[in-house]
Parts: sequence; C-alpha cells; structure tokens
Amino acid sequence: MAGSSARPVLVLNCGSSSVKFAVLDPKTGQRAVTGLAERVGSPGTEVTIRRGDETSTEQPQDGSYEGVLRSVLGSVDGLDGSGVAGVGHRVVHGGPDLTTSVVVDDEVLSAIRDVTDLAPLHIPANVAGIEAVRSVAPDLPQVAVFDTAFHHTLPPHAYRYAVPASWYDEHGARRYGFHGTSHRYVSACAAELLGRPLESLRLVTAHLGNGCSATAVRDGVSVDTTMGLTPLEGLVMGTRSGDVDPGLLGYVAERLDMDVRGVVDELNTRSGLLGLSGVSHDFRTVSEAAGDGSRSAALALEVFVYRLAKAVAALVVPLGRLDALVFTGGIGENSAELRRSVMTSLGHLGLAEDAAANADHGRETAGRVSVSGSTVALVVPTDEELVIARDTEALLRPAGTAG
Ligand code: ADP
Repeated sequence: MAGSSARPVLVLNCGSSSVKFAVLDPKTGQRAVTGLAERVGSPGTEVTIRRGDETSTEQPQDGSYEGVLRSVLGSVDGLDGSGVAGVGHRVVHGGPDLTTSVVVDDEVLSAIRDVTDLAPLHIPANVAGIEAVRSVAPDLPQVAVFDTAFHHTLPPHAYRYAVPASWYDEHGARRYGFHGTSHRYVSACAAELLGRPLESLRLVTAHLGNGCSATAVRDGVSVDTTMGLTPLEGLVMGTRSGDVDPGLLGYVAERLDMDVRGVVDELNTRSGLLGLSGVSHDFRTVSEAAGDGSRSAALALEVFVYRLAKAVAALVVPLGRLDALVFTGGIGENSAELRRSVMTSLGHLGLAEDAAANADHGRETAGRVSVSGSTVALVVPTDEELVIARDTEALLRPAGTAG
C-alpha cells in the first residue's frame, strides 16, 4: 500500500575518513536515525547519532570502520542488524561493468575492488565499509548503488574522449559521469510534478552541491553528462576547477615545478569557487562576500553561472528540445538568485523566472520557478539516501512480493 511503512534500510556513505549513515523507511523516506562518524581510522574517532530530537556522541575505542559499524548497528537495534532489512552502500564508481544496483556477494566485491584505479580515494573506503558490515553482522544482506550507474546509457560518441583509442581499449579511459542517483531521482520527480510520463520528457538536471554536474535525460535515460572519467570534469564546483585546457597541466607543472599529480590535486582541492574567490568553497559564503563588495567573490559567481548556463545549453544538443531544466543540490535548492541568473542567461531557450514562485520554492517545496508559457524550470530537492534505500529494499524483497 503506498505510504505504508516497510522494514528500514541502513544507508552508508563511507568516505576516506568519514561515514555518513541513515536508517530510513524506503517507502516513506522517514529517517529513524541519521548520523556521521568522523576521523574514522585515526585517533579521536567520533560518532554522532541523531534520533528524532536527540543527539548523542560516542567515541568508540576501536575507531576503524568495523568499530564505527558496531556503534551504528548497536544504535539501530542490536549488533546483528536485526532492526534493518539490509544495508545499502553508496559506491562512487562502478566502472564499465557495474551498471545497475546489485546485491553484494564475493564476485561483486571483487568487481568493485577492480575499479580502484578509477577512484583511488573512494573505492577503498567503500570496500572497507562493505567488509566492516560483513565482519560485524555477517548475515545482513548488502546492496551496492553506484554513482556512475545511471550514466551507463551514454552513447559512445558522448563517452569517448578524442584520444588514442588504446587509452580506452587498454585502460578504460572514457567518460563515466557521477551523481547518477541524484539525476535519476530528480528526473523521476520532475515527471511526477509535470504530470507527464518520464519516457516522453527531455530534461536537463543540474545537481549543484559541493560537487556539481548537469545531465541530459532523454526519455528517462542519461544521454550525456558534464562529469567524465573522474568528478573533476565539467562545471565549476566548490574546490574543483571543472573543465580546463589539458595544456594547462603541463604549463603549470613546469612553471611551478610540480608533477602532474600535484597539479591535479590543486585542480581538485584549491580551485573552483575557492580558487577564484580566495574566500571559500562554500557558495553561500562566496555570495555573502560578493554582497559585501568582494570583486573576486563576484567574479567567482559570474564564472560559476556562465559555465553552468553554457553547459545546460550544450546538453540540449542530444535532447533536441528542452522540456524542463531541474535544479537540485544544496545550491540549486537554496539559491533563488543562482536560479534567476541561470534562467536569465538562458532566455534564448525560452526560460523566464517567475520571481514569486522562485522565492517560494526550494529545499522544502519542489515546484515550478519559471513563468507559465515559458520553458519549465523546476526546483526538486534531491534524496540520494532514499534512492539507495529503495534500490536496496527492491533487491532484497522476496521474489513475487509487491513493493
Ligand atoms: P554536498 O555536495 O556535500 O552534499 P550540498 O548539496 O549540501 O553538499 O551543497 C552544499 C552547497 O550548498 C554549499 O556550497 C552551500 O553554500 C550551498 N548552500 C546551502 N544553503 C544555501 C543557501 N541558503 N544559499 C546558497 N547556497 C547554499
């Protein structure tokens, strides 16, 4: 029955030194528990657990992923994990072969390990999280949900780089795309809001958080996206540069006497809004600085908006027409000003802001923010944890039973 509750799912997002977790009902999206473990694997590990209005903090003696998982599962309902139907993991990269959410067995775990080279910072943490659950609650089923999976439908002309073919053939150097769970979720919500079948819609979804990407969704499938082999390609982000001339790497490496790895690290961690503004990686902070007269902060915002608008226009190429532009992520949901600037830059695509609706809609309420008669622009709050919980529940549901 729609809206009735289901057995909760534990959703884990294991990073290199943190674990974000939530226990939620895959039907209603209601959270029983949310929390964050920080400094995982270092001295001073701290697990913060929120249950309704109550927040508690634990410092597990064992600060490994396993120790943290013991705290998390203990807070749910007994160490065996009997309080949850299973665990859903956000896994950053599925490589070319893991193209859909999947129950984790030995073969899948080994396939995830095999893509480590494509995401060397993230995959080891994702694997450590899966192994920790296995060790703490061996009978608890686990599901992996891949950030790249939604983009497996990209055609070769969208995913191939114009580089020597052997780089692709022998090393898998191609565009993969990320934020897939979010793009998938908001495109389905957009169809619902528009009251039209997703299979008939041509959408551009813009996920704008600390990481930013935009995707062309045609008839429900991703046909192009701004991120590539790694999440560095495409839009300007909090600390990431997005697109640069590849020639910049050699130029800067020589000038600053750095190796390529060092330059790429700077492009990942000291660029984007932070690099341009010199103020912060945080969009809101940069906006405040611009409001206080900082020229560099104002320029950072101009570059951010210009590059985003240019990318949205480019994504209309594989769509042929634009039925709706969808804003999501912390910036897309919260900044009416950003949405206004983008719509203004894209007037030639028929977008025109409805100022009252744009001020009203946001993180709390999805809705249309462009005037009636113009091309549709929507705000849709994303919920990646809910997608992971739903995929997990669906894969673990006994065959023949309805969702
Ligand atoms: P993550 O990608 O880490 O999940 P979020 O989706 O929460 O991050 O997005 C974080 C970004 O959202 C930050 O740049 C932050 O400044 C921005 N943001 C949050 N609230 C607002 C707001 N009210 N106005 C403008 N930007 C905001």
